[in-house]
This record gives sequence, C-alpha cells and structure tokens, in this order.
Amino acid sequence: MTTLCFLLSAFNLFSQQPARPKLVVGVVVDQMRYDQLYRYQSQFGEDGFKRILREGFSCENTHYNYMPTYTGPGHATIYTGTTPSLNGIIGNTWWDADWRASRYVTEDKNYKTVGAPDGKSGWHSPAVLLSTTITDELRLSNNFRSKVVSVCLKDRGSILPAGHIPNACYWFDDATGNWITSTYYPDSMGLNAWVQNFNKARSIDAYLSKPWVPKMPITESIENWEAFKSNKYGDVTGAFPHDLPGLRKSGSNYGIIRTTPFGNSFTLDLAFEAIDNMQLGKDADPDFLCISFSATDYCGHQFGIHAAEMEDIYVRLDADFERLLNELDKKVGPGNYLLFVTSDHGGGETPSHMKTLRIPAGVYEESKAEAVLEGVLARELGVAADYIHEVANQQIWLNWEAMESLELDPNDVADVIIDFLQQQPGVFDAMTIEQMLMMPSDYPYAPEIRRGINNKRSGDMLYNLEPGWHSDDQLFGTGGAAHGSPYSYDTHVPLLWFGTQVPRGTTHAPVSVTDIAPTLAAMLRIMEPNASTGKVIEALFKR
Ligand code: ZN
Ligand code: ZN
Repeated sequence: MTTLCFLLSAFNLFSQQPARPKLVVGVVVDQMRYDQLYRYQSQFGEDGFKRILREGFSCENTHYNYMPTYTGPGHATIYTGTTPSLNGIIGNTWWDADWRASRYVTEDKNYKTVGAPDGKSGWHSPAVLLSTTITDELRLSNNFRSKVVSVCLKDRGSILPAGHIPNACYWFDDATGNWITSTYYPDSMGLNAWVQNFNKARSIDAYLSKPWVPKMPITESIENWEAFKSNKYGDVTGAFPHDLPGLRKSGSNYGIIRTTPFGNSFTLDLAFEAIDNMQLGKDADPDFLCISFSATDYCGHQFGIHAAEMEDIYVRLDADFERLLNELDKKVGPGNYLLFVTSDHGGGETPSHMKTLRIPAGVYEESKAEAVLEGVLARELGVAADYIHEVANQQIWLNWEAMESLELDPNDVADVIIDFLQQQPGVFDAMTIEQMLMMPSDYPYAPEIRRGINNKRSGDMLYNLEPGWHSDDQLFGTGGAAHGSPYSYDTHVPLLWFGTQVPRGTTHAPVSVTDIAPTLAAMLRIMEPNASTGKVIEALFKR
C-alpha cells in the first residue's frame, strides 16, 4: 500500500507541471552593490532581507556583462534578457542622429503628461526599446489576460521594465508631488481613479514634514565622512540628521523625497494600491508588478557608499521589504507569488576618499571633454570647427558634416583624439568603434564593451577609464559615488528569488543579469523576450 501511494504521488509529481505564480513581483534596488546586502545585516530585522535569504535563493555571483552600467541600460537588460547592443538602451542620454540633438532615453514628444500640468516630466514612452520585455511576453502569452503594472520615482525605471504594452506605468513629478503617466499608456485620458485618490491624499507631505533621523544607531559607516559627500547632486545637503521641512521651505520642490529613504516607502505605498485596485494576483493568469526603488541611487550619488545615510536607507529599505512580504502574504498568499530582487548597477568608491588612502582613483571631466577635444583638434588640424556632437557614456559622436565640409579625413580627426585621450590621467584607452569591434576577445573587457554598442545609436569613438575613476557627469563635485564602468564594483549586484517553487539555497556559479528574464520565462512557461541572450539559471529548478 505504501509503495502504491508512493508510486501514485510520484506519478502525480511527474505528470503535473509545477505551479505558476499568481503574481510576479520584480524589485530593482537602484545602485545596490552585492556587499550592501550583507554590510548592514546586524541592523536588519528578521523578516526583510534576512527572510528572503533564509527562505529563498541567492545567486551570489551575479554580474552585468556590459558597459555602460547606468540606470536605463540596467532596467532594460533585467527585463529584456539582452544587452544594449540589441535592446538599444545604450545610456541614459545619447546623441540622436535623427533629432540632431542629445536625447534622454525615454523622452518622446509625441505624448503628453497625464496627472500633472503638461510638461517635460510626462513626455515619455518606451519607443526606443528595440526588443520585447518579459512583461511584454507575459501579456502576449495569453491574449493580454495577464496584467502588468510598473512603479518607480524615475520615469526610465518604470517605463523600461513595463515594456511596450503594460496596463499601467507610473513615475513621479517633482513639481506637483504627483504620480503621473503619459498619453502613451492606457490611462491616457486621465489617471486611474485610485492613482488620483492617492495623489489627493498627499502622503508626500507627511513624509516630508518630519526631519530625517537615523532609525537605528549608526554602527557600520565611516565617521567624519562629511568631507566626502557631494553637496551638488540632490536637495538634501548638510550634516545628518537632515531637516527636511527646513530644506523644503528653502525652496526645494517635492523632488527632495528622491534623496531620502522615504522615496522608497512612498513608491511601495503606490505599489500596494496597485495590488488592490488593479486586482493583481487574483486569478490563474499570472500578473506582473514591477517596482524600482530609486532613492538608494540618489543617496549613493549624494552621500557616497560609506555614509551614515546609506546605512540608514538600507535599514529602512529592509523594513520596506518586510512590509512588502507581509502584504503579499496577506493579499496573494504565501507560495502564490514569485519575488525577485536585483539592481540596475552597482556603485564605486568616492575618489577623494580613496586618495586619502593612497588607492588610485579620480574623476574624469567628461562634461568638459567636448570643448577640450575641439580645442585640441583646432590646434592640431589648424582649423576650429564643431567637430564633435556629443561626449556621453564614454562615447564620442563626431560631426561628419563638419569634417566633410572641411575635406578632412575622419581617420585623422580620430587619431588626434586618440593620441590626446590616451595621455590623459585616468583614461585607460581610447579607440574608434571599428577598432573596438576588431579587438581580440582577451583585450580587457572587450566583450563587455562590445555588448554596450548598438550599431545605429552608439558614438563613433569610445574610451574606457582606469579602475576607480568616474566620469563627472554622474559625480558632482569631489564627493559622493558614481557608476558606469565595466569594473566589478559597478557590475556585481544581488540577485534574490523568493516564493512559488523557489528552492532554498545559494549558488556561487557565475550568473549574468541577462539570465533573469529567460529564467522568469521558464518559471512562467512562456517565451523569453525576443532578443534574449541569457541562460536559464538551472540551480533554481533543482528540487
Ligand atoms: Zn541606476
Ligand atoms: Zn546613479
């Protein structure tokens, strides 16, 4: 009898497909390095990150496999399972040859703002995203019965995960303090009533009415860190604790919430409203909720990774994860939801601090590179001209019309730029894109650099910085932290799985961020995104 029961249950085991989640919750923690999962553990509660680690699965050796490691490319890669070369998201900004102007990644003047007076903050769409996302594939898999909703303070952190055909996609408007969308999305004629009600409740005012004081005693951060903070990146300046009501009165708009832990809590509040009001996880068709927490990134840039503020923001984020798990247990039920947590890139050390320790580091002034290089070209070639359209993301877009009208050989122009850049402090190497594509694969980071190049959108030339060096376009003044490189501090991120069918455990096998989307596709038994280059993480399917 026992044998028969065993055989029957085994038969059932093999004949039935494993359960699919009713709700997938994808959480991106902006600028979270791998070590930030562990650095503050003595301060964490038992039911946030520690519960995910205890009951879920951690891919400890997860890296980005391209540069530039910025927010737009990171979110696109998590959800498309491919790299900028194929998904087209080569940076947060780049030179757009059609516009003949610099473009911001999701900027799209074909659409208007919904939820605030029309203006730039709402002129966005996913039009530049060239491949499908796992969220698109889920919608396509079942005649659009699965719902996809995305929330993030940053427009790009909401829009790129949501894909091309979500049910709703919201981001934050600094001027009004409202959650908004654009006329690209389904609620183009007016925000869904529940979002309007959320905005009307003005919980933002409550978050900004109190000073920001540490939740727990600070134990893990470097003391006397004041000199290494940036005072130019965000609105939250000065010494910790921060007088938020005072800073608000001195003229800051609602954007101040971005540089506080309350920006994350405020994002989670809206996500909870979405679960209730969009009926997420209520039927057999899996829904997908994309949450991206931006405040960790704004604080990283502003304060630097060793600041007390960073410790406090992770302690408070841990409490928000506890809140999220409790809410999902209550609303969707334990085992009925699948949660994954990762980051869009890591973050580096503060160069001025590294210098005091005699560790090589520095800031390369990319913001001034266009003017500097045009000066060098005028001197070397004997004629001043608008040689360069833009320098961004360690790429250079040359002005081909200008070179043609001067009858200059573009190779001569490139040679002058390469000779000059190769001599600059902090520059590792410089070359044309053609030269990069012909480099042997053992040239440092050649595959990673190539995966960041899109044939039509990328610049004509590129350069890479030495380890520890940052571009000043992300690092303001001498303090704070930045990211963008192919080095480990920018590529090594957490990747945690929790919930439906996820075994307990860890792996130290190499995992690429491009593996997340095909792994989700396998769990959902749907197609992976159409340009996916990742592999299914097999360890998650071993029982
Ligand atoms: Zn980011
Ligand atoms: Zn950043």
